[in-house]
Amino acid sequence: MKIIDILKTDRITLSFEVFPPKTEDKMDVVIKATEEIARLSPDFMSVTYGAGGGTSEYTAEIADRVQREMEVPMLAHLTCVSSSREHVKKMIGIYKERGIENIMALRGDIPKDGTTVHDYKYATDLIADIKDGGDFCIGGACYPEGHPEAESRAADLKNLKRKVDAGVDFLTTQMFFDNEEFFDFMYRLREADIQVPVLAGIMPITNAKMMKRSIEMSGTKTPRRFLQIIDFFEDRPDALRQAGIIYATEQIIDLIAHGVKNIHVYSMNKPDVARDIQNNLSEIIK
Ligand code: FAD
Repeated sequence: MKIIDILKTDRITLSFEVFPPKTEDKMDVVIKATEEIARLSPDFMSVTYGAGGGTSEYTAEIADRVQREMEVPMLAHLTCVSSSREHVKKMIGIYKERGIENIMALRGDIPKDGTTVHDYKYATDLIADIKDGGDFCIGGACYPEGHPEAESRAADLKNLKRKVDAGVDFLTTQMFFDNEEFFDFMYRLREADIQVPVLAGIMPITNAKMMKRSIEMSGTKTPRRFLQIIDFFEDRPDALRQAGIIYATEQIIDLIAHGVKNIHVYSMNKPDVARDIQNNLSEIIK
């Protein structure tokens, strides 16, 4: 099923994200976690993409298996900046063969040593190849606080408009911890005449070290209340997990109360986190 058809309904949607393993021996663990999350019957699930080595085929394998066995629509990510056009086209062919209908078109991070393959510069360049490869529903990434490499938020928005005009059906945001950033971004999107559905990306904090690393990489602003929670509960993992799930739940409730319809949770291969969030919203998202 195409994700855009799910997003077009009046329902509030909840989706979860998983990531593939780095090595084959961890595949079973990831499949098991993905299936457990799928049992919660989210509106759809996404599987991220690791550009390096053999891992690029794991995304397709996980998405295919869960989609077939659990009947949950899957969104398979695809990055381009570290790959040749030949490799990307091969991956699009694999997605098509496996019956994957939804692709998240991404540039990917520039490797720290600066080496890229140079066939693609931006996610926008990937969209034409996906369209050539089949009848896919295409998602794109967006950054309420601006992409860290962008000259300015205004420049980032112009680039986003180009990406949407190239054929993106919906957008998913980078994680954010201050809903005001998201609301402000939504106004700016409308002003820029970007009309596609936007999924609010919510990351529940369950591990202080991991969070500090992802905040550093993404440049996401950390409200004082949020930082206080991480610092205060850092050495009490169970308390931090509980506080993180409550913080994320409150963010989601506030978004929904402001009319936001589509919530994407970065559930990071953690079925217990996905389940707790869903339970907290049981009367809110039915
Ligand atoms: P782009 O849309 O290409 O933008 C990258 C930068 O280039 C921005 O600063 C933009 O303003 C600028 N730009 C774009 N077009 C132009 C232009 N024409 N001229 C000048 N500048 C331009 N990474 C992974 O490796 N695997 C994943 O599965 C993955 N999933 C993600 C999912 C989401 C929802 C998000 C938000 C990010 C994800 N990422 C993933 C990380 C992502 O790859 C990085 O954030 C990357 O740095 C940017 O990717 P992009 O697709 O947003 O790039």
